[in-house]
Amino acid sequence: MTADSGFVVIGAGQAGGRAVEAMRKAGFAGRIVLVGEEPHVPYERPPLSKQLLSGDDGPETTYLRDRGFYREQDIDLRLGARASAIDPSARRVLLADGDELAYDKLLITTGSRVRRLAISGAELPGVFYLRDIEDALAIRARLAEGAALAVVGGGYIGLEVAAAARSRGCRVTVLEMEPVVMNRVVAPEVGRFFADVHAAQGAEVRTGTTVSGFAGDRRVDEVVCSDGTRLTVDLVVIGIGIMPNTALAEAAGLAVDDGIVVDEFGRTSDPEIFAAGDVARHYNPLLGRQIRLESWQNAQNQAIAVARVMCGSNVAYAEVPWFWSDQYDLNLQMTGVADRWDQIVYRGDMEDRRFTAFYLLDGVLVAANSVNLPRDVRYARKLIESGARVDRDALADPAVPLKTLLEA
Ligand SMILES: Cc1cc2nc3c(=O)[nH]c(=O)nc-3n(C[C@H](O)[C@H](O)[C@H](O)COP(=O)(O)OP(=O)(O)OC[C@H]3O[C@@H](n4cnc5c(N)ncnc54)[C@H](O)[C@@H]3O)c2cc1C
Repeated sequence: MTADSGFVVIGAGQAGGRAVEAMRKAGFAGRIVLVGEEPHVPYERPPLSKQLLSGDDGPETTYLRDRGFYREQDIDLRLGARASAIDPSARRVLLADGDELAYDKLLITTGSRVRRLAISGAELPGVFYLRDIEDALAIRARLAEGAALAVVGGGYIGLEVAAAARSRGCRVTVLEMEPVVMNRVVAPEVGRFFADVHAAQGAEVRTGTTVSGFAGDRRVDEVVCSDGTRLTVDLVVIGIGIMPNTALAEAAGLAVDDGIVVDEFGRTSDPEIFAAGDVARHYNPLLGRQIRLESWQNAQNQAIAVARVMCGSNVAYAEVPWFWSDQYDLNLQMTGVADRWDQIVYRGDMEDRRFTAFYLLDGVLVAANSVNLPRDVRYARKLIESGARVDRDALADPAVPLKTLLEA
């Protein structure tokens, strides 16, 4: 290792921030440079669509650490700095300002960017996306009592924005193309439950509705739907998914397939380059397949595991995926991957707003969603990890502690 090389991390989000901490904790004493395009120290995004929108919190409440921490840890934090190229053969990263950074090992944690709607009027002022602190503060400033908000996309981010806007007294309409909300992550029955809760809270949820454009002179004042209906609005928030920031990796010749392809240790197709967080499509040994996750858990724990590997550990990142969303007084937790199942078993009652949906495939638990029952998800994670067959009657019976199924 030369004096000016060491570890370079591109992307100072949650994964990048947790990775550099873990490198020092693992005893790495060499040079660490963390390069981040945003002006902020690494921060967590979940509060952006929750506490930051519904309350008056300042952006610093989302920070992982303050600036002093990076100084104390001797981590060279380059904020407002964009990496523009990677040269794997010279082991160098080129920054947009012309600087060059040599590395012995490189970690890419460039995360994702929002998917944009390419329809007329989408560039009008008043049309927002939500990915960073500036987006959240700009949206919050416009969520005045009585303001008419249209949320395009009934995924979890859109629905969290809807809930926050209702808490500020806005008039809210959610427009979702699919027949149910949160279609990608929960079963239709659970999606309908959430749509009903939003309706009961005074938000209008229009499913099966495609937005075809936005209209307005100086700023958006109408949403145009493909069935011809028009909606008068003060602002629009679009939440239709994200895309991994893979351009740097692709240009450097790394294997990319909807995410930078890495093994269970976070290693890319170049043995000295690693990736973690939203941008990585990793091999998950528990699931037996490659998967790309967009979650807090993955951003934190995968980054820590990969940082340790860069410091000499040989422990793979292997966790059952877990995710949560808060909407009104509902805490939804999801574990496993609910993309294939042949049976759903419910425990608890939707009317009580405390229930869990267990997704089974060939009698094996593959995923679970719980509403206001976080403990069920804790046990479900362990049951999924065990890969054992589960007794459906016992799963459905709230009188049977899930713990006993683990012991079965
Ligand atoms: C509004 C919102 C709410 C969320 N809520 C939840 C939730 O409730 N539960 C949950 O589990 N997850 C939630 N998530 C998802 C979770 O926050 C993400 O999965 C996590 O932030 C991913 O972390 P990351 O570090 O991989 O990527 P990011 O957070 O995207 O960070 C990547 C960073 O890299 C920077 N970067 C990119 N390219 C370059 C470059 N070339 N040079 C320098 N810097 C670069 C970016 O500017 C960014 O700062 C939410 C996300 C959002 C946006």
